[in-house]
Amino acid sequence: MKKIRILNLYPDEMNIYGDSGNVLTLTRRLQWHGYDPEVLFLHPGDTFPESIDLLIGGGGQDSGQQKIAKDLQRIAPNLRKLADNGTPMLMICGLYQLFGHRFVTDMGDEIKGIGIFDAETIAKDKRLIGNIVIETDFGRVIGYENHSGQTYLKNKQKPFGLIIKGEGNNTDDRSEGARTNNVFGSYLHGSLLPKNPVFADYLIKTAVEKKYGKKSTLKKLDESLTHRARESAEARPR
Ligand code: GLN
Repeated sequence: MKKIRILNLYPDEMNIYGDSGNVLTLTRRLQWHGYDPEVLFLHPGDTFPESIDLLIGGGGQDSGQQKIAKDLQRIAPNLRKLADNGTPMLMICGLYQLFGHRFVTDMGDEIKGIGIFDAETIAKDKRLIGNIVIETDFGRVIGYENHSGQTYLKNKQKPFGLIIKGEGNNTDDRSEGARTNNVFGSYLHGSLLPKNPVFADYLIKTAVEKKYGKKSTLKKLDESLTHRARESAEARPR
């Protein structure tokens, strides 16, 4: 069977509000599509593994971000190389912030990021919490946000989506998340991928085509339960 290797970055420090569900979703959908997923975990200090097809990272408290910040700089050259090659990645909240240039905490500490996104994040007094719906290249994406950091995209940095409901990157513009090549950053927990199969399959298709060629196909899956979950999540008040 055709293998697809997923790397989950810092699962102990960076995984809140169910973000590890993104890895479970990719694993299960890859199996349904007829592929053999293999999940590797990268902890601080680990050697960066070879032949990675897809990368996932989650959110975390400021303290979790402080813990992994130095190690993230260590693996930054590997991540940049994969990003330049078009490898799909999804980074949520805390790791999304650190894929920008920097995050300044409410204590005034600056945590340096790796600058894959031309963005920076500053902690503000108001926490942005609630259900969120955004319009993206993959249709409506639905999730849940909870962050005090507000992110500002610079220059021509593309967002992941535009807000329909909720706050997203900040309280000043309608942008949510960021996209550089096939690297996606987003504030959406939930976790994000179970309720957003079109986007999940974009990540999978990109990984599969890169490894096994453009002719690779995905199967049509029964999404009826997913659609019901989406409808109920979309109808929830903030
Ligand atoms: N500590 C960051 C913030 O509150 C990230 C939070 C998160 O990952 N949910 O902005």
